[in-house]
Amino acid sequence: MTLIGLDVGGTSMKAELTVDHQILATESCPTDRGDPVGGILDFAARLAARAEELTGSPAAAAGIVLPGIVDEAAGTAVHSANLGWRDVPIRRLAAERLGIPVAIGHDVRTGGLAEAELGAGRAAGDFLFVAIGTGIAAALVLNGAPYPGTSGWSGEIGHIVVRPKGEPCACGNRGCLETYASAAAITRRHGADLPAEDVIALAATGAPRAAAVWNEALDCLADSLASATLFLDPERIVIGGGLAQAGSALLDPLSSRLPGRLTFRSAPGLVTSELHDQAAVKGATILASRLLN
Ligand SMILES: [Zn+2]
Repeated sequence: MTLIGLDVGGTSMKAELTVDHQILATESCPTDRGDPVGGILDFAARLAARAEELTGSPAAAAGIVLPGIVDEAAGTAVHSANLGWRDVPIRRLAAERLGIPVAIGHDVRTGGLAEAELGAGRAAGDFLFVAIGTGIAAALVLNGAPYPGTSGWSGEIGHIVVRPKGEPCACGNRGCLETYASAAAITRRHGADLPAEDVIALAATGAPRAAAVWNEALDCLADSLASATLFLDPERIVIGGGLAQAGSALLDPLSSRLPGRLTFRSAPGLVTSELHDQAAVKGATILASRLLN
């Protein structure tokens, strides 16, 4: 049976069609920023048509993962500041359009689910998945299942204040983790429009401004992960998102800073994501498969 997995991002959407865990096709298209919901439904309909064309029978189910605040239980895209929607009953709209069961999920929580099943969270009972990209968000995965919170708001680690009265954040507060340690913040704080990975590479050569920005980002991340560890006691912390591609340039300094902030206990293991930018779309397929059980 064919499953549709669809990952909606702020600038592009990517999808996979799978049969029995084998990928039949992958597709991507730009997010329609003028009409994001219409764009999602059109893309999903094209994927359903493609599935039928390739296999001769309709897809069995679809999973759609979305950015922002998502209420999985209600099937609602509650809010995305980036895409400008509020309270969209996307599960019902997609199910009506496609004529098959549809599950929806939050992008980072669903990425955490995929890491739990197929990636760096395998064999870890409880772990924290932290996605560091344009923003920073996390998923707490408990016994293999991401914890959504009461109304879909869990995991906003990027807006925990790490530098009181610090830099202003888009959320309205000051000193949030995201304003120091996201890829966008690293680019902005360094200046000269350099991508975060270039700032990190420059920091390794000892360039003073890049080193200062990267050092502060690492300190802020270590502060947040230490707080999360003290509060949650995860078995491991899986770092995903675009910044995880820095690999040891991120993990080594972070791993060496964490123990000093955890005076009376050991630090959890830090690892990078194994599924990289495919985590959310693979999670979307897992959500779709669960509709058939
Ligand atoms: Zn904030």
